[in-house]
Amino acid sequence: MFDHDVLIIGAGLAGMRAALAAGENGADVAVVTKVHPVRSHSNAAQGGINAALTDRGDDWKEHAYDTIKGSDYLGDQDAVSIMCMEAGQEVINMEHMGVIFNRDEEGRLGTRAFGGQRRERTFFVSDFTGQALLHVLYEQVLKVGVRIYEEWFLLSLIVEEGECCGAVVMEIRSGEIRVIRAKAVIMASGGLGRVFEPSTNALICTGDGMGIAYRAGASLMDMEMVQYHPTTLKGSGVLITEGARGEGAYLLNANGERFMERYAPNMMELASRDVVSRSEQTEINEGRGINGCVMLDVRHLGERLIRERLSQILEIARDFANVDLLTEPIPIQPGMHYQMGGIKTDVNGQTQLPGLYAAGECANVSVHGGNRLGANSLLDTLVFGRRSGEHAAEMTRTKSHKAITDKAAEGDRSYIQDLLDHDESGDMFGRIRMEMGQVMNRYLAVYRDQEGMEFALSKVRELRERFRLVHVPDKGKTFNTNLMFTLELGMMVDCAETIALSAIERKESRGAHTRTDMPDRDDENWLKHILVKSTVDGPQVDHLPVVITDWEPQVRTY
Ligand SMILES: Cc1cc2nc3c(=O)[nH]c(=O)nc-3n(C[C@H](O)[C@H](O)[C@H](O)COP(=O)(O)OP(=O)(O)OC[C@H]3O[C@@H](n4cnc5c(N)ncnc54)[C@H](O)[C@@H]3O)c2cc1C
Repeated sequence: MFDHDVLIIGAGLAGMRAALAAGENGADVAVVTKVHPVRSHSNAAQGGINAALTDRGDDWKEHAYDTIKGSDYLGDQDAVSIMCMEAGQEVINMEHMGVIFNRDEEGRLGTRAFGGQRRERTFFVSDFTGQALLHVLYEQVLKVGVRIYEEWFLLSLIVEEGECCGAVVMEIRSGEIRVIRAKAVIMASGGLGRVFEPSTNALICTGDGMGIAYRAGASLMDMEMVQYHPTTLKGSGVLITEGARGEGAYLLNANGERFMERYAPNMMELASRDVVSRSEQTEINEGRGINGCVMLDVRHLGERLIRERLSQILEIARDFANVDLLTEPIPIQPGMHYQMGGIKTDVNGQTQLPGLYAAGECANVSVHGGNRLGANSLLDTLVFGRRSGEHAAEMTRTKSHKAITDKAAEGDRSYIQDLLDHDESGDMFGRIRMEMGQVMNRYLAVYRDQEGMEFALSKVRELRERFRLVHVPDKGKTFNTNLMFTLELGMMVDCAETIALSAIERKESRGAHTRTDMPDRDDENWLKHILVKSTVDGPQVDHLPVVITDWEPQVRTY
């Protein structure tokens, strides 16, 4: 058994920022991560991070308004205000720690335009911003002496007397199952992209933390709000950054028209993501697409700019689609990218389960609402990662460990043994995972309707039954990835169920949740969040009003 004050699950940007803050505030901190820290999905972030810097004539209130409008008024305005107010300092801190942001002509931090925002406020490092941020934070975390349990897998949270007081984890190398006691646990385990197939997300983005926190008693909120990014590659789902449109790329249909003129005459290709994805899907559905895609054209930006600011997508286009961006447009389509919903927290990261915090993509502080603005997620990870770390360190100062022992791991040990004992009659994880991903991508995508969502829910429940008999052929202890992927699938099925349930519950269209059978937004009845909690009788659905401070809901046009 191991003891720490603050235990963080996840070494992406949220986990690293939380670890640094808690470490600097005097706590004994540990991080558990199933992959090497810099292989976390944050590393793949391309386009940039938003902040309104006053010395550029920008104002956090403008950023907050764009974020709230982008959220289709589902974001809680108190939380959005905090994020936008603290953004500038967070970006400058990262610069001082050593992130080499791109510069403008005068040598100051440079910005690029991003979707749904009326001014350029996205700071970036070419098109690999996440990598630059994550590597620098990793160095800082090592410097303050945080212990990293690298390639350890979270199995469950330990809850005693209604309080989260540690975690059960498996060392992947040896298969050993251990208890880590903690006075506070911060879940920073990232998104669930792979519940959908395909997705822009790494294969490791399987919603483990959301599933585990949900099972432990925390509520998941806004799970119906799944972001489809406007520019992903057909088949593989690999992301082509919004930075391309930020730099001026066009979207074209089969007739060569810049079709966004019809849907968002003011913002064109830089309208909010939900708006652009819907527009593309409409073009495709009405026969103006090409093989289920529309085209993204960057040629007019010129070779120098493309090589300097979009170098990674130049390579991606060549390697994954055999397209030379310098000489031809690339076919793209809307694809699953981000989960706006997650574990409900307050603005200090505290969940409804005492002792448990959450930050980053697995959390829902409620800053993204129905649709996240591009480049607001990296910001969310840093601001609320730091706030969670600070609050947890402070909270644990006067707290002692609960009297738990190694026995706390027995449930997980027997669950895993049981999985390994299944006979060959069941499916292997891969088949169930693929069927789930495809059904979610068909019925819970850009356009939804009652019948499709109900079908998806019943299919997910059928897959859950098949999962009970899942077959794990590899019985070994060392690096049993077969077992790990099977454990992940268990969490993914729970996440999929909460997404379908919440989507069926919301009887209107808002943000990323667009129903062809209920196309209008209904502020009178649905200006509220949908929460799902796990109970002995199954998932329980609840509602919570949206926090409105300064910005009354308006008709949303771009
Ligand atoms: C391709 C791509 C590009 C993006 N570009 C941008 C962008 O330009 N700007 C922007 O704002 N946002 C962008 N996003 C979104 C943003 O990158 C993510 O939302 C954000 O990085 C998530 O950070 P995180 O710290 O919450 O999680 P992650 O970085 O995903 O980290 C999750 C961590 O949890 C650990 N973990 C998970 N489950 C377990 C388990 N069971 N046991 C142990 N450890 C576990 C993992 O090992 C990992 O360390 C992009 C996303 C993608 C996929």
